[in-house]
Amino acid sequence: MPIERVAIIGAGMAGLTAALSFARHGIACDIFEEADALVEVGAGLQVSPNASRVLSTLGVLGRLEAVWTEPERIALVSGMSLRPLAHVPAGRFARERWRAPYGVLHRATLQKALLSAVEQDPLCTLHLDTPVREDAQGSLPRITGKTYPLIVGADGVWSSLRASIPHSPKPDFSRNVAWRFTIDQSAAPSWLAANQVTAFLGPSTHVVAYPLKEVGGFNIVAIASGISPGETWDAEASEAQRAMLLSQFHRWDRRIADLLAKAERPTFWPLYEVSTGRWHNGRDRVLIGDAAHAMMPFAAQGASMAIEDAFMLANRVAGSLPLAQALSAFESERTGRIARVRARGLFNRFAYHARGPLRFGRDIVLSLRPPQSLAADLDWLYGFRPE
Ligand SMILES: Cc1cc2nc3c(=O)[nH]c(=O)nc-3n(C[C@H](O)[C@H](O)[C@H](O)COP(=O)(O)OP(=O)(O)OC[C@H]3O[C@@H](n4cnc5c(N)ncnc54)[C@H](O)[C@@H]3O)c2cc1C
Repeated sequence: MPIERVAIIGAGMAGLTAALSFARHGIACDIFEEADALVEVGAGLQVSPNASRVLSTLGVLGRLEAVWTEPERIALVSGMSLRPLAHVPAGRFARERWRAPYGVLHRATLQKALLSAVEQDPLCTLHLDTPVREDAQGSLPRITGKTYPLIVGADGVWSSLRASIPHSPKPDFSRNVAWRFTIDQSAAPSWLAANQVTAFLGPSTHVVAYPLKEVGGFNIVAIASGISPGETWDAEASEAQRAMLLSQFHRWDRRIADLLAKAERPTFWPLYEVSTGRWHNGRDRVLIGDAAHAMMPFAAQGASMAIEDAFMLANRVAGSLPLAQALSAFESERTGRIARVRARGLFNRFAYHARGPLRFGRDIVLSLRPPQSLAADLDWLYGFRPE
């Protein structure tokens, strides 16, 4: 007998997608978000076909297609010389091969599209300015007067709900830091291609650039080694932090090094990973998205995995299994896929950040791989159907 109502902690990608996914099965949701408004936090996101397929099923994709960009390819380019190394076709190719689009957009655009679908669904109620920290099972009925057979922790990498789940995973600093900024189209150099996602590769560092319609320019992310300032998500970079970043790009092509040096208001994101551990307590609590398995952005899959999780959890909970078994089934079907995506991210990290002779070997191997064959390597990831 499926449950009638769930509580969801957090209104990020995971929480909002979960609300729509539960509502699709007739299950009502109260979503509790600590922020008093869903403001424009973050920067660009790549939404790959495995996630856009879910968003299409939930009726959200149309709102995104009107505003996002579908890049023609994901290009790998040497950061030392700007020489193209290889590419994976996207654009129309992605729609045909993986039967769903590949798009790039601002995180706030995706959040707003999900939010507006949630607001229009009579089964979903969003409670802003409502942090839920300890004793969720005790505090939630005091807020809404309702009890919840299931509480979903979609509260991100610093999840509070995680503490109430025995043997749950822990966040670890990856020793890598992402630096993000945007540049206006009018200030963009001509070598930044507006029709593709470009990953510039260099020793122990890489830079990803892609167009963002919402800012009328480009989203730039540079990843290098760094120290963590603690539980901050989107902090302004200090002069010292910026100097540390730039020093790691001194052997790069001058044009990229200059672009980084001139970046206005870059933000500083320490990259935390949430290691393996239990995602549910066998009774009434479960973690999804970054709360369960935050990962490095080397495969650009964190939000996409959060979206898949949310959809598959709702399918399981609405199915025929008793709740405890549904939670176990959810965890076991997701852990294998998350491990594979993480492994892909580690592989990308190894390839992107290769140094010395490994770098030359990488460039030769990549130049021998036709675009179609690189795309075939991603069929398991982008062609995934969570149904
Ligand atoms: C540099 C970088 C680049 C990235 N690029 C990509 C990409 O291209 N593609 C991709 O798929 N992913 C990407 N990601 C990953 C992606 O941003 C995250 O995986 C995704 O946003 C996680 O979504 P979430 O909903 O699980 O968590 P969050 O987005 O962190 O949402 C958690 C929500 O919970 C709320 N909350 C927290 N605590 C509480 C509480 N106690 N009570 C109530 N509310 C609470 C928060 O305010 C927030 O709204 C990138 C990440 C980084 C750092």
